[in-house]
Amino acid sequence: MRLLLFDIDGTLLTSSGAAGPAILRALSDLVGRPVGLNGISFSGKTDPLILREILQANEVPEEQIEALLPHALQAYATLASSAITADTVRALPGAQALLEALAPQHNTQLALLTGNIKRTAYLKLDAVGLGGYFAFGAFGSDDGDRNALPPVARRRAETVLNEPVAFQDTVIIGDTPRDISCGRAHGCRTVAVATGSFDVDALAAHTPDIVLPDLEDMDVALAALLD
Ligand SMILES: [Mg+2]
Repeated sequence: MRLLLFDIDGTLLTSSGAAGPAILRALSDLVGRPVGLNGISFSGKTDPLILREILQANEVPEEQIEALLPHALQAYATLASSAITADTVRALPGAQALLEALAPQHNTQLALLTGNIKRTAYLKLDAVGLGGYFAFGAFGSDDGDRNALPPVARRRAETVLNEPVAFQDTVIIGDTPRDISCGRAHGCRTVAVATGSFDVDALAAHTPDIVLPDLEDMDVALAALLD
C-alpha cells in the first residue's frame, strides 16, 4: 500500500491573506494588546509553532504562552471560519485534476500531512472543493512539531486500511524545506512542489527525491507520486 501525504498551503491551494489576520486578531484579543507578525514566516510550520513564535516575538512570557496556546488555537479556528472562504482560497493549478486521477488508483491512499489544525485544514480544502479527497490526515492540532506527524498519519492509515503501511512506501508532498526534512526524518519519499514561497532551485538544494515546478503536468506528477 502506498500512502500519499499531501501538504495543503502552497501545495494544493493558496490562502494567502486569509489566515494571518485571523491569527493576529485571535492573539491580540487574548493578550489584551495589539500583537504583530514581527517578521515571523508561516511557511512549512505548524499552526501551534506559528502562534508560539508570534507570541515570543511579541515578548509574551514563556509560561503565559503555554497557558494561552490552546485558547489561541481555538479562537483562531473560530475567526478562520469566516475569514477562510471561496473568496480567499484558490486551488493551485493541476491540484484538483491530480487528486481526481489519484483517488481511484489501486493500492494508493490519499491523506493529509499539514501544519494546519484540523478545522482550518478542512475549511481551506472545502472552500475549493478538495476536502472530499481526504478522509484523514495528520494535523498541526496533533503535534506542533511537523516531524512528529508522519507516525500519526501512518497510524491513522493503518487503522483505516487495516493493514501495515511502511514509511518507505509513504510519499510526502509539500512546498517547503520543512516538508522535505519531515519526510526524510522517517525515510519517506519526498516530492517538493515549487508553488509556495520556494522556487525549484531553492527546494532542490534540500535534495528531495523529486522537485516539480507545479502539479499542472499530470503525467509528470503521476509518475513522481506513483513510480
Ligand atoms: Mg505548505
